[in-house]
Amino acid sequence: MLKEDTHPASVWWKNSVEKSFVAGWLAKSVWKNRNSRRYIALLKFRNRWRAGKINVCNLPDMIIFAPSEAEAGHVARRTLNHEIFMYLSPSLEFDSSRDVRHSVSHELAHIALGHLLPMDSREHIENEADLKAAEWGCGRRTHGKRIFSKLTQRL
Ligand SMILES: [Zn+2]
Repeated sequence: MLKEDTHPASVWWKNSVEKSFVAGWLAKSVWKNRNSRRYIALLKFRNRWRAGKINVCNLPDMIIFAPSEAEAGHVARRTLNHEIFMYLSPSLEFDSSRDVRHSVSHELAHIALGHLLPMDSREHIENEADLKAAEWGCGRRTHGKRIFSKLTQRL
């Protein structure tokens, strides 16, 4: 009989990532798709945490909203069973793997640091999240600003 995996990283994965998929928040095109940069970034984070390579005290359960990049829009009736909600944009699929890993770590760092309420200094919390992501081995973006936002600004 398999022993239940009670490592906090595995519990977080089950209660947040898996549940987000089952509840329809995390798209099928992202879930267990080895071509999905968002899925790979989440998986690498979980694996590094589980292997003790990064120091994560604990993360609360959360909804991870990662819609499909193929859909132009979507409507659904769903209930939020978690207080914490993390959005991962479909446009991340067009960033480099390194930048996606940074973005995912940066958002998880906001949660780990308790940046869930409006704060006075936005820049301060962004720097704090960047520093935490760097501490987890996911330093600043290679090209600074996101490629996708550079593209949309040209339109
Ligand atoms: Zn941020």
